[in-house]
Amino acid sequence: MSLVQLPYGLNLLYPNRLWKGSELERKVSLTFDDGPVPGVTDWVLGELAKRGFSATFFMVGDNVRKHPFLAQEVLAAGHQVGNHTYHHLSGWKTKTATYLEDVAACDAVLEDTLGIKTSLFRPPYGWIKPLQARAVAKNKKIVMWSLLSYDFNSSLAPTEIVQVCTSRTTSGTIIVFHDQEKTKEQLKKVLPRYLDFLVGEGFTTQLLLS
Ligand SMILES: [Zn+2]
Repeated sequence: MSLVQLPYGLNLLYPNRLWKGSELERKVSLTFDDGPVPGVTDWVLGELAKRGFSATFFMVGDNVRKHPFLAQEVLAAGHQVGNHTYHHLSGWKTKTATYLEDVAACDAVLEDTLGIKTSLFRPPYGWIKPLQARAVAKNKKIVMWSLLSYDFNSSLAPTEIVQVCTSRTTSGTIIVFHDQEKTKEQLKKVLPRYLDFLVGEGFTTQLLLS
């Protein structure tokens, strides 16, 4: 099955964004976008803990405001937290000033809630205008991905998703999952199998370099 990952060549067009980790070690970077959401994020934490894995959670500021204790739990478990804007804005559809204010609002709630200044940012949908990216990149690493899990596609069978994810995983893979309401049914079927695949193939996880 061929699932489109990204428009071909985008990673060459934007070399300053992080697309992939080092290929020298048998490690992958797990990333979870859109949380924290009760009933999903806490479940993910349990699955990671069972296998001793770490991950990066790109949080939506408004969800951090609603669920501060869950956000704290993520950090306390040793995971990384990144900025995913306050309102999950699409950069392409948003004026740059508004977009940057939203990024700053997410920074503020992360700092208030977690006491951290994150240097990691992932644009929602991967859509960000060059001007916005340049401004954000002044004090953050923009993190893209090399592998989309397709957990957001409810019409795919979980086995198909697992097949795509496992067959495309290599050393340095940065994979995207989503810890949110719309994806939780797929995620709960796919993630344990994917994580078990990593264990079975001798992969460990690594946090992102900022
Ligand atoms: Zn998102």
